[in-house]
Parts: sequence; C-alpha cells; structure tokens
Amino acid sequence: MSKTLIVLNAGSSSIKFVVFDVTEGKPVNMATGQVEGLGASVSRFTAKDGEGQSLGEKDFDKASGAISTHTQAVDLILKWIDDTFPGTEVVAVGHRVVHGGVRFTKPVQINDDVVAALEELTPLAPLHQPHNVAGIRAAQAAFPGVPQVAVFDTSFHRGHPFVNDTFAIPREYYNEGVRRYGFHGVSYEYVTRRLKQIAPLDAEGRVVIAHLGNGASMCAVRYGHSIASTMGFSALDGLPMGTRCGNLDAGVLLYLLDQKGLSSSEIREILYSKSGLLGLSGISQDMRELEASDKREAREAIDYFVFRVRREVGALSAALDGLDAMVFCGGIGENSWRVRERVLQGMQWIGIDLDEEANHRNARLISSPLSRVRVYIVRTNEGLMIAEHTLTVLGLAAPEIQAFSADGTAAQRPSA
Ligand code: ADP
Repeated sequence: MSKTLIVLNAGSSSIKFVVFDVTEGKPVNMATGQVEGLGASVSRFTAKDGEGQSLGEKDFDKASGAISTHTQAVDLILKWIDDTFPGTEVVAVGHRVVHGGVRFTKPVQINDDVVAALEELTPLAPLHQPHNVAGIRAAQAAFPGVPQVAVFDTSFHRGHPFVNDTFAIPREYYNEGVRRYGFHGVSYEYVTRRLKQIAPLDAEGRVVIAHLGNGASMCAVRYGHSIASTMGFSALDGLPMGTRCGNLDAGVLLYLLDQKGLSSSEIREILYSKSGLLGLSGISQDMRELEASDKREAREAIDYFVFRVRREVGALSAALDGLDAMVFCGGIGENSWRVRERVLQGMQWIGIDLDEEANHRNARLISSPLSRVRVYIVRTNEGLMIAEHTLTVLGLAAPEIQAFSADGTAAQRPSA
C-alpha cells in the first residue's frame, strides 16, 4: 500500500491542498487542488496532477449539497483522494499556519496544547489564524489518529535582531507581542534551500529574496538565515500587493479614523481589500491585466510597485552590509520579465547587471557574466516545503531530507 501525505492551507473562503506520495520518504507531487467559495452560493472543487493537467472539477450549490464549512471541504477532499488514489494510506497531514507568535520557531507536531496556543494567537492574525485552526480541527476529525504538523509563515524570521523585530512605540507593546514577525517564511525557506543546491556559495552570502505574488514581500537572508523582512506585525506592511496597501504612514490611519470617521472594519476593508495594485489602478489587482492595459492608472500602479521593490533592494542590502545575490519568486517574480527588468534597470551601482535576453526567457540566472551580484529566478514551492517539514518532524523523512532539515528553521539571533 502506498503512503500519502496531505498539505492543507485553510483560508477564510477556501482550502488549498496538495497530495504527495511519500512511500519512499521523499514527497512526490500527485495532485494539487482547492475548494473555493466556502459559504458562498456556489462552491467549486478543482484538482490538477503534478504536471498541471486537470484531474477534475465540480461545482456545488444548494441542489448538489452546498459546501459551507472547513469540515465539509476537508471531507470532500478526503473522499476525492480515496476515489482518485485507491489503495493509499494517509500517513500525515501538514498545515500551513500563518502565525506562530514568538513561541513557535520551527514546525511542530499538533496536539491539544498546540491548538490552544494557536487559538491564543488569533488577536495577532484575526483574519487568518481562526481559519487555519478550523482547518486543523476539520482534518483531525477527518483523519483520526493520523499525525498532523503545523508549519508557520513566521518561523523563518524569528531570529531577527531586535532592531528588525520591534517598532519604536512604548516597550510594553513589544513585550506583549507587537513585533515585526514577517511572513511568507515557508516560501523564503524553500527558496533559500533551493539556492543552496543551485548556487551554494551565493546561498552562504548576503541575499535579497523578492516574493512577488498577489501577496508580496522581500526578505534579507544572511548565511541562510532571515535577518529582515518588509512585512511586519501584519501581512499589510512593506510592498504594495494585489489589494493590500503595503507601507503606510500611521498618521493616515489616524486621519481615516478621526477626520473621515471610518470604523476599524471599514479601514480594514480598505487596507486589505481595496488598496495596492487594485486601489491605485482602479482596474485590477492582477499584474497581467495591468501590464496589458494602456490606461495611465494601470501604468502608475505598476510604477509604484516597481519603485517600492527597488527601494527595498537598497534598504535590505544596507541591512545585510552588502549584496551577493538576489532571487525573484512568486507569480510576478517568476513570470513578469517586465517587472524584473524595471526593478533591475540602472542597478549597476549595487553590482547588478541584467542579462536582458535571459530575463525575457525567465531563465534561472538572469544577471550577466559581468554582474558582481548574481540574480536568480527560483520557482517557489511552499507545499513541498511543508511536506518535507512534516515528514521530518514525524521522523518519516528519507535521510537526505532529514539532513537538510537539521539546519533548523529560525536563525540564531545575530547581533544587530
Ligand atoms: P498568490 O500570492 O495568490 O500565491 P501568485 O504567486 O500566484 O499569487 O501571483 C499572482 C500574481 O502573479 C498576479 O498578479 C498575476 O497577474 C501575476 N502573474 C502570473 N503570471 C504572470 C505573467 N506571465 N506576467 C505577469 N504577471 C503574472
């Protein structure tokens, strides 16, 4: 009987999943899919195989049985796996969890104490954490007795020096957890490990990674460990995103509250869902649509995005005392040669010389042989990272994966 591992990423209205064959202790992607539209009048199940070919899709409405809870969605996924891959045993479930607070500096096997601790972190990530916990509970009910592991988006950043972990507000807030946690850590860890395989010397140096997707952030990595991130207390800070504002003067919040009389939920809606590329362009949150548009507002939204990324290349290089390599990942970072070209143009001052032709091809190395700083594109794979951590935590990983994971997740705290 073959062995299967499932990775779940539970959001407010969707659950994404990846199914891996782990019979040999190394995750092999069998299927990726999602249930979206939880609680909506129509929910949709889709799944693809490891090559991206459709394995099935189905809509659910009132007549065919609406999917309104995480439990129903997980049950649906489980049934689909049973039907599609008969004769396989689910041996583990790995969960992507947005917030690990200061306690969880590496992946952990889930038990009642861990679930309670994750729930306690809800005030730090009220839009995400409750759904992650609901996904864990649903999976515990659907796979009784199957070990489950939580992998955190914050862990990779927990070794930040104090200056990159705090805000300059009264210290009591830092002590109660108002810190610069940083997110996208699962992606950054995966990319850092891939870089070790692709370019081991660069991976040992000073690296800026730009995860540019619908959510976007950048991270400064030194000797394989994160020392600074553009995201802070929440996933709002730093770069502008599809619909999130990015870096914002706190005075703007006071203005919206005091002068415009907006409520906190109205402000939340603006900052999370109506800002970023969508808010600036008034057209779309999608970079492809903006690149295809000839409207001035679309161009200005891209200009702002590119400008902020360029600023952060400089800022994070300063935090690293220099730059040896840069990596692009995420939907925009991996696919938009235009954005990469504009970010990297005129960066000879920092040692970057772009190979335009390689950049057009989305090649792995896009800097020219003259470039002192190497620039790479690495396709991120958060599902695989979570699967490897899950196997390692449970002692089910093949020796080479165990060895790789033995590095630990969070850095030793370096001096500032
Ligand atoms: P998420 O953060 O939701 O995982 P992705 O990493 O998939 O998002 O990134 C989605 C973004 O990537 C969208 O803005 C999309 O337009 C952009 N994108 C994907 N492919 C391309 C492309 N070929 N050219 C430009 N942008 C692209």
